[in-house]
Amino acid sequence: MTDASSSATPSARKGSAITLAGVTKVYGEERVVDGVDLSIRPGEFCSLLGPSGSGKTTTLMMIAGFAGIDAGRIELDGKDIAGIPPNKRGFGLVFQNYAIFPHLNVFENVAFPLRARGWAKEEIGDRVTQALRLVRLERFAASFSRQLSGGQQQRVAIARAIVFEPSVVLMDEPLGALDKNLRYEMQTEIKEIQKQLGMTVVYVTHDQEEAMNLSDRIAIMNAGRIVQAGSPRDVYERPADRFVGRFLGEANLIPGAVTVAAGEGQSVLTLADGRTLRAVAMEALTAGAGATLFIRPEQIELAATQNSADPDINQLSGRIETLSFLGNTLRYMVRVADDLLVMVERPNNGRDAIFAAGTAVTLRWRAAQSLLLMR
Ligand code: ADP
Repeated sequence: MTDASSSATPSARKGSAITLAGVTKVYGEERVVDGVDLSIRPGEFCSLLGPSGSGKTTTLMMIAGFAGIDAGRIELDGKDIAGIPPNKRGFGLVFQNYAIFPHLNVFENVAFPLRARGWAKEEIGDRVTQALRLVRLERFAASFSRQLSGGQQQRVAIARAIVFEPSVVLMDEPLGALDKNLRYEMQTEIKEIQKQLGMTVVYVTHDQEEAMNLSDRIAIMNAGRIVQAGSPRDVYERPADRFVGRFLGEANLIPGAVTVAAGEGQSVLTLADGRTLRAVAMEALTAGAGATLFIRPEQIELAATQNSADPDINQLSGRIETLSFLGNTLRYMVRVADDLLVMVERPNNGRDAIFAAGTAVTLRWRAAQSLLLMR
């Protein structure tokens, strides 16, 4: 978080803390948000990430005040905000459909929240100009929405959300309607603005890459619950369960039985055919229990031969079934057992050997890179 007073324009007060405790929303019979606990720190960029229907937007709407909560509480800097209507919460809002006013030009769109708050005319001029500079739209102050591209319209929406220096900005799929390259560019801009202004951002997306690029912390939702919250690296490398492991990218999930349950250290998983693999267990294991070894495809190396045993390295022999060129990576599907295919991704760097379909290979990866998952 940057010190807001040291940044150029406009200088926001610090972001607020938002705490959700047991927050629940029931529609009909369904608990679409089910006991969500989340503490968002002042100035934190926190994403709610999950598949469609997992309860992200409903959670955001409860924070915004557009949806009531059926149980639990939401606090802003330690104070319950249940009785405060949306327009009095003082949050900046940006949604997917830009929702900029077509009858007002860019300047007036951005000035709108300031006029609604009764700001003096001179102050409004300065502040709107600063906000338009932040989103690089100074030259478009007199334009109307029909004269702007999708990306420009979304910049207007962002300028309007930040112009009154909110301590919290809520964004729901704000880049959903933009094409891939523009999305990435806008992600960089949003992050830059948030760093400069120091506000707290709660950001809803179903796009894993977007969440990873933007967030200090990602809360992953499934079926109305937060299944894991952590830094992008944390949730990618240390998923709490198979759902998170699969949702954040390609994952190999190798089933077996725990034969050595070693508290903090490396446990041993024995496959159905008796081969053994080592992995780190994040929770207490019981010897004999079924478990799944999790390993990302890019962590696995391919070798032509098996090396002598090294307890720090897992090795599995197999045969290349398919090789796909994906541009920057080569993806192999390797048959390890009749019922087990393992995905391996290697950088297309022109240096590594390329293995053709049908070749016998050994998969190798560091035991410390793999996890034993119980759920
Ligand atoms: P997400 O943002 O993760 O896609 P939502 O929060 O929009 O998920 O929706 C979660 C669930 O709640 C969905 O099953 C959706 O159909 C349901 N839902 C959302 N809003 C309403 C509503 N106003 N009335 C009834 N059901 C709703």
